[in-house]
Amino acid sequence: MVSRVIPVDEFDLVIFGGTGDLARRKILPGLFRRFLSGQMPAGSRIIGAARSELDGDGYREMIAEAVAEFGGEEASNKKGLEAFLKQLEYVAIDARGEGGWADLAAIVRQDVVQAFYFSVAPSLFGDLAERLHTNKIANAQSRIVVEKPFGRDLETARELNQTLAAHFDESQIYRIDHYLGKETVQNLMAVRFGNVLFEPLWNNHYVDHIQITVAETVGVGGRGAYYDKSGAMRDMVQNHLMQLLCLIAMEPPGQFEADAVRDEKLKVIRALQSIDHHHIVRGQYDAGPDGPSYREDAENPRSFTESFIAMRCHIANWRWAGVPFYLRTGKRMKARSSEIAVVFKDLGHTIFEGDEARHRNILAIRLQPNEGIDLQVTIKEPGPGGMRLIDVPLDMTFADALGDGAEDVTDAYERLIMDVIRGNQTLFMRGDEVEAAWAWTDPLINSWEARNDVPKHYDAGSAGPEDAMMLLHRDGRKWREIKG
Ligand code: NAP
Repeated sequence: MVSRVIPVDEFDLVIFGGTGDLARRKILPGLFRRFLSGQMPAGSRIIGAARSELDGDGYREMIAEAVAEFGGEEASNKKGLEAFLKQLEYVAIDARGEGGWADLAAIVRQDVVQAFYFSVAPSLFGDLAERLHTNKIANAQSRIVVEKPFGRDLETARELNQTLAAHFDESQIYRIDHYLGKETVQNLMAVRFGNVLFEPLWNNHYVDHIQITVAETVGVGGRGAYYDKSGAMRDMVQNHLMQLLCLIAMEPPGQFEADAVRDEKLKVIRALQSIDHHHIVRGQYDAGPDGPSYREDAENPRSFTESFIAMRCHIANWRWAGVPFYLRTGKRMKARSSEIAVVFKDLGHTIFEGDEARHRNILAIRLQPNEGIDLQVTIKEPGPGGMRLIDVPLDMTFADALGDGAEDVTDAYERLIMDVIRGNQTLFMRGDEVEAAWAWTDPLINSWEARNDVPKHYDAGSAGPEDAMMLLHRDGRKWREIKG
């Protein structure tokens, strides 16, 4: 199947922090893939901007190396790369100083789509936003893209929102959560709202519980010092897991349009009940054969920061009353695996003699690896010997089902950047959503900090602390296996 490429208007995309890790690893290799797929109009330009004193050739060389290292298979397309590099420029600029701004003003055009990617520390957002205006570069149609972390609590998120709002309208601000750019996450909405099968069952009459797991095998490694001030709650739950929770739990929006979707997500966050600490398990990984302990990685022998968290949440509305949402995420786990599993209720009565097992339909939406969806159904075990039932998955791995079309499953960043150019905010977080998410997480964090809560230890390469298993066992349920 050949995928359809929807062209975008000509654009100038300025990447502040264009020499940084994110730009080299994700943004530019992603843009290169979009270029190869024909989505970048001929006159469009990508302008790297950072303090390093580079000229255009020096920058193009840096990006050629980055694409070779991080660009995947496409990186071997030398002709394509040469053509792509011609669309790159560089301006040496200091977000906090005056140097470089006149050069940028001279380059950026006013008659094409303008996007400014703030791939720098959030402490520079205000400087960039202000200077884009004082130097008359940005206009009322410009878009800005900002990266996580969006604050470290409600207060700092509010400040950031106010800083950006002083210079840009909310309709111009694109807060990235790259989980929302994943093919499967969008497919979750397609499955829910595009099929007659699921929506009638999507409520507390038929759903027993929902599990959301984001497990990583990597530790905090080189970014231990940063991570130690953050922890899994701030780094993963407040943004990624809550966004997934919103998409699975929200009411159908009136149409698939940015504010309609975001209004519904906001209602979910606001309906989240507060959790008492018996329903939260925080963990820290121990040293294992593959690496040091969390505390060694974080270079903080007395750290109480969590590298794992599991929790049971409830959404206070008619649809979800009584349905637990179990969330867990951790580092140095047994496999790299992210999924959302909707576990339906059992039938309550079996007509098949000798069938004591509880058979359940489970809809599992896999984010990684092998993005896809599978639906566990109960069938008769093949062969003679009477009516024995087994559970089997109806598997739809996108790479298998879509053939060549699965090429679009590559990367969330490139999809989201193209949405910015198109002016489509549906997959970006609105300011009030981010604040509502912090308003829910802040009291939980404050509560364990006030108690000096000590995280439970877990073996590197495991499924997390024993207490996380107990969280579900107490409810007569169990976590799905973490499989890579
Ligand atoms: P990084 O590798 O430290 O890069 C920072 C970039 O900012 C560099 O290009 C740096 O270039 C530039 N810069 C620093 N001070 C500047 C100034 N005063 N004026 C202009 N440019 C300046 O950081 P990163 O990992 O790319 O992260 C960038 C942002 O994305 C951060 O907010 C981070 O939290 C977020 N993020 C990163 C990742 C990731 O995987 N890396 C993932 C999610 C979110 P010069 O030194 O040449 O100025």
